[in-house]
Amino acid sequence: MPHGMTRREFVRASAAAGLAAAVPGSLAGAAASGAERRVRGVAPLPGAPAVHVRGPARPVVIASENGGRFRNGGPQTCVEKAFSMIVEGRDVLDAVIAGVNIVELDPEDTSVGYGGLPNADGVVQLDASCMHGPKKRAGGVAALEGVRTPSLVARAVMDHTDHHLLVGKDAQAFARRMGFTIEDDLNTERSRRLWLEWKRRIDPEHWLDPEKRAEVGFRVGQQMIREGLLDESHYWGTIHCSGINAKGEICAVTTTSGLAWKIPGRVGDSPILGAGIYVDNAVGSAGSTGRGEANLYNLTSFLIVELMRRGMHPKDAALEGLKRIRANTVEKRLLNARGLPNFNIRFYVLNARGEYAGATLYAPRNDRFAVCTENGLEFVPLEPLLDGQPTDD
Ligand code: ASP
Repeated sequence: MPHGMTRREFVRASAAAGLAAAVPGSLAGAAASGAERRVRGVAPLPGAPAVHVRGPARPVVIASENGGRFRNGGPQTCVEKAFSMIVEGRDVLDAVIAGVNIVELDPEDTSVGYGGLPNADGVVQLDASCMHGPKKRAGGVAALEGVRTPSLVARAVMDHTDHHLLVGKDAQAFARRMGFTIEDDLNTERSRRLWLEWKRRIDPEHWLDPEKRAEVGFRVGQQMIREGLLDESHYWGTIHCSGINAKGEICAVTTTSGLAWKIPGRVGDSPILGAGIYVDNAVGSAGSTGRGEANLYNLTSFLIVELMRRGMHPKDAALEGLKRIRANTVEKRLLNARGLPNFNIRFYVLNARGEYAGATLYAPRNDRFAVCTENGLEFVPLEPLLDGQPTDD
């Protein structure tokens, strides 16, 4: 980041420079001269710029950081794969799902698909959803066991049923009928070893009352993060990926093994439309990783898209969504010594013009998200709402 620039200015400047470089002269001129128009029937917030909809866009794929990291032994990361398919003219949802499949199948990512950290009983239960902007269709699965690529089962729910969400053993039965391979156990040696370590630490021989038990489970998980046994982004951990093509078609997918050591049957935000994912093709998309409960309570991805509809830039809309989460976090057990949330949550946001941003409640270490444009893969800092760390005393 250039010296003297705030993170916010840097991201804005990078996005603007990228847009100018990427959009052919005539399109850039059209955009600047107001080719965008307002969404019919929705008044912008006072003083807000007109909402841009449809029309030529800058193709781009964004994802949580793991979307630029894992390759499953192949040549491309999630965002690179999705971007290359988009510019080849492939369907945007096919592209982003092919991207996240790389991470789902990579056992090194312990937050997604095969090798994802299991629930409290040592069983890997997966959640996923997808939304197709132009088709206005969606599909999801929750608490699915035995399928390495839950995003593809979510896609099958979208393509082959009249429903948006199938859960548990019936989601698995559906997957079997659709021809997916069902495996007995999606643990890897690593995810099983980590689960056993967690089990050992919480001493299951001496069950505490349910509240204390949840507290102990959380505390032990945090301890394992501090000791470097677990990556924070894998304790919670998910991949969200959104993409837009030159025609302005937006699609998105979110897929996860959910919260590590969760109570069996717990479903997070990832498969819930409006929470872990939301797309409105005329406006943009938003998706999330982090504490799903905070997102389920606030339906923040929907909120962020609605704020963009009313004229907000992706970054401002994402920060506004995070403010809502902060305001609605009031239970003592969820607050740190400063009275602020003791968890983290992140949003990845794209608008219909191909502008994007990532924002986070806190930015521990080098917090960033993955982007792929015609310039290739890059990591962009997430904009933090709050200083310090979730566990600050
Ligand atoms: N949001 C996911 C969930 O709550 C987990 C995560 O992204 O870390 O299941």
